[in-house]
Amino acid sequence: MRHAAGGWFSRVALTFVFFLACAGGVRPTERSANAAAPAEWHGVPVLMYHRIDNDVPRDAVGRDLTIAPGAFAAQLRYLRARHIAAITASDLVARLARGERPRNVVVLTFDDGYADAATAALPLLRSYGARGTFYVSSGFIGTLHHLSWQQMRALRSGGMEVACHGTFHLDLSTLDRAGQMREAGGCMQRFARFLGAPEPQTYAYPAGKFDATTESVMREIGMRAAFTEISGDVDGLTRPYALPRQRVRHDDDIARFAALVAP
Ligand SMILES: [Zn+2]
Repeated sequence: MRHAAGGWFSRVALTFVFFLACAGGVRPTERSANAAAPAEWHGVPVLMYHRIDNDVPRDAVGRDLTIAPGAFAAQLRYLRARHIAAITASDLVARLARGERPRNVVVLTFDDGYADAATAALPLLRSYGARGTFYVSSGFIGTLHHLSWQQMRALRSGGMEVACHGTFHLDLSTLDRAGQMREAGGCMQRFARFLGAPEPQTYAYPAGKFDATTESVMREIGMRAAFTEISGDVDGLTRPYALPRQRVRHDDDIARFAALVAP
């Protein structure tokens, strides 16, 4: 009797295992949070953009920093098709601080506060249900080709995060402590004055540069975390003021983008 029951159970179990193998075989490369055996967690990719514009500069640096809106839309389609949610940098930091290990998420960041953040990036992000974090140098707001304060507010009311990229885009590692306080703290003060709450929670270092003084400066002005240009995914807050970011380049095709956001 026991033997017969065991045989029945084995057949059902085998059928189930066979079903799982077949189901798994349909999409062998796709991993999901609901998979029976979740893949190892490698952290969250934080991607760095600058300009989203059809007008691509001819110089090599400017060209590399500019992504065509069509290419950016294809990247957003890729994320949506794979159910990868674009969350803000402060959301990521808050979730890591709670001890979460977020899967199927990515952070899209945009540096330097060019006007195309509002005219090109914002409508695309909204139409794909994605959120972005815009790192803006406060001293250039309202100047030629840069965001206005009104556009900064539009980014915010459109569900985006605006955060600090210094006052005059200075390399903090070239400044003494007082200079770093002025450059980084000045951005916080202008945001507070012209945008009001909430205060920016994260900072992106211009050129990714910082030094041994910077951590205490960031803490003093109330930043929870800061991003460098160190390569890699963010897998915790052991060093909150030296978090990695990955640059998205003009010539990146969708395969290279897929590799950047692969879990
Ligand atoms: Zn910059």
